[in-house]
Amino acid sequence: MINAAGTRTPIKMATLLVSHPQGLDHQTPQGHPERPERLRAVEDALSRPKFKQLIRQDAQSVDLAIAELVHGKSYLSILRDARPMEGIGAIDADTFISHGSFEAVSGAVGAALQALDAVVLGEVDNAFCAIRPPGHHAEKEKPMGFCLVNTVAITAREAQRKHGAERIAIVDFDVHHGNGTQDIFQDDPSVFYGSSHQMPLFPGTGALDEVGVGNIFNAPLDPDTNGAAMREVYNDRILPALDEFMPDIILISAGFDADRRDPLAQLNWVADDFAWITGKLMDMADKHCENRIVSLLEGGYDLNGLADGVTAHVAMLQNGTLESS
Ligand SMILES: [Zn+2]
Repeated sequence: MINAAGTRTPIKMATLLVSHPQGLDHQTPQGHPERPERLRAVEDALSRPKFKQLIRQDAQSVDLAIAELVHGKSYLSILRDARPMEGIGAIDADTFISHGSFEAVSGAVGAALQALDAVVLGEVDNAFCAIRPPGHHAEKEKPMGFCLVNTVAITAREAQRKHGAERIAIVDFDVHHGNGTQDIFQDDPSVFYGSSHQMPLFPGTGALDEVGVGNIFNAPLDPDTNGAAMREVYNDRILPALDEFMPDIILISAGFDADRRDPLAQLNWVADDFAWITGKLMDMADKHCENRIVSLLEGGYDLNGLADGVTAHVAMLQNGTLESS
């Protein structure tokens, strides 16, 4: 997909968008950054004419027992105990659960698994799931950081269990480190986890020396750096390791809170940076796994930054270039 002059050649992909109407049922307190309006901003951005070729599905809910693929036996009871009959219950100072949250989470996992099926069965080339709440902070035994279950981790395990994939790569460009994903897979060489994230920042993990069993590749970025710093760590660290890993599928924890406008972090990425990393991951997927990418929405709390980042990301997934067709 990169020609001799080093520029990208447009390649039409069959790209699936899985929408998640149940995601609106997960309520958080007034003023909380992880709010239903995020999904509406994403849906608005992806309803524009340039995205008319997307293949569109709504999320089907799944039995949440599937969360036990990555979480402990008592994990779901932590959520059940915290869930109120009405209103909003607190799990910790910034993680909340409402009566509709189970439906939202089972729809988010369902979205990811139907995208996985479609990509692995070759019905589409790649897929983006516009889901909430995010999942990458949810550890084996602990929901946290706005996250109730770890959707990308469940998707990785299901790719192995249901589809027989051997090597799963998860690349996480959310501005926060995915401590939950690292916690779940740090002893498992069959799952690659590569993350760029601001440091210092919540949740405090993600140092260079957290390497798991040689399967974890953290790339902390200093506050106030821009996309040039990000491109350097991907070119120097994460992409060469991913190339060597030779994934059977690439899952993306696609957070858009590294946008320069985001209120929760201090990186200065612009839309073209999200397109760049998407294109690089597509090159890896082209080389190693017949283009198979499943991308899941994680964070992104400035609605304009979120919409612009998603637009760049999905346009690249669809066209292999930022140019509209
Ligand atoms: Zn984040």
